[in-house]
Amino acid sequence: MPLYKVAIIGAGPAGYFAAQALQNSVTEELTFAIDMIERLPTPWGLVRSGVAPDHPKIKTVAKVFEKIASDPNFRLFGNVELGKDVSIDGLTERYDAVIMATGSAIGRKLGIPGEELRNSISAAEFVPWYNGHPDFANFEVDLSGKVAVVIGAGNVAMDCARILAIDPKELDETDTTDHALAKFHESTIRKVVISARRGAEFAAFTSPELRDLPKLEHTDVIIEASAIDEASKRAEASGEIEKSVRSNLDAMRAIAEMPKAGNERSLHFQFLLSPKEIIGSEKVEGITFGINKVQGNKVVDTGKTYTIACDLVISAIGYEPLELNGITFEKGKIKNVDGRVIGTNMYVVGWAKRGPSGVIGTNKSDAAEVVELLIGDLKSPKIGGDISELLASNHKVVDQQYWSRINGAEILAGEARSKPRVKVVSISELLRLGQSL
Ligand code: NAP
Repeated sequence: MPLYKVAIIGAGPAGYFAAQALQNSVTEELTFAIDMIERLPTPWGLVRSGVAPDHPKIKTVAKVFEKIASDPNFRLFGNVELGKDVSIDGLTERYDAVIMATGSAIGRKLGIPGEELRNSISAAEFVPWYNGHPDFANFEVDLSGKVAVVIGAGNVAMDCARILAIDPKELDETDTTDHALAKFHESTIRKVVISARRGAEFAAFTSPELRDLPKLEHTDVIIEASAIDEASKRAEASGEIEKSVRSNLDAMRAIAEMPKAGNERSLHFQFLLSPKEIIGSEKVEGITFGINKVQGNKVVDTGKTYTIACDLVISAIGYEPLELNGITFEKGKIKNVDGRVIGTNMYVVGWAKRGPSGVIGTNKSDAAEVVELLIGDLKSPKIGGDISELLASNHKVVDQQYWSRINGAEILAGEARSKPRVKVVSISELLRLGQSL
């Protein structure tokens, strides 16, 4: 039976769902040897370093990833960096197809004065820091102030704001990295503001995340009912309201109408504010917004401004990909047509293909569509070597067994502290942990 070799670069959700789509396509006439290549010694991508620690249910998808990885025709090559340890040409020469699942890791910039001030940070730094991504082990954030402002009306902004506003006791039994948890316990931030540049009807939050907010035990969540009433009126006036918008508005109205417990901690949603300038001499001292209004289908500047004194600004306004040598990028994506990199045997899935949008499950159908095209393009299988020919003989590859030992050790450490796991942050320690058991 013909065996095709497929290399997948990136062990995040998009990479695993591409592997799953290949596995689901196996027939008597067609089978695949899948090599998944990952820069870190730990797989799972954003499920490990993106999903908020207080949302453990979302992380249960890792069980699906481990099942995909248990197939005898699947091999993990962790601790292997594209462009450093292996070249893209070396892979495209040896594999029938190479699937890029490299995501989008860099925070988009606001491009406003004061963005460079100390304590003006990006969600693309804050989130991997509290989730224990090794690249952010030494990231510094000062939580000694009282007020934080998060810019953006998406789920990443909501994660950042909630994690800052939550009583850290509610994080004690999560897998929040120890260094971040210690900092949250010392934090004096008590008011967190999420600012959206458009009205509530345009917010990119998803309603399950909004509906979770009233469950915060020690934080008042505050949305002005008038902002939701006005947003609903505008949405009604512009025609039929999409189901997701209605659901979001309902969830926000429920929050607005909820009695407030008078907690010291609060999380506020503010709409129709465009960030204009971050103020401060050396560190963040405030942020000035332009006040917007809705005119027809557009949001326009009223010319009025509004300033919030604050100690921390987090921008959560989307991501851009890290550019890779030998790969052409266009508009924040690897240049592709429906997932095909034209003229090559390369394919793209996930955020690298479509930009930073969609929840984890979106990657499943997306990867299945790309894999269908890939299968349609296959010619006779390539004869010859694989990634092993490209790696130095002493390269420490984290294969599935090695990762299972790391995973097991982290879970074991967690059991003693009633946590799902205790994440190890340093790469050398992760490599040692996998070896020593
Ligand atoms: P997002 O959903 O695209 O939201 C980005 C937000 O930034 C939008 O509200 C956008 O407003 C705003 N924005 C962009 N440029 C701006 C600017 N210059 N000034 C002010 N605001 C600006 O992106 P995300 O939050 O990074 O999330 C990425 C994807 O991951 C989304 O699909 C999200 O649902 C998903 N995710 C899901 C979960 C979950 O399921 N729990 C958690 C995290 C992330 P405009 O709409 O006005 O452009």
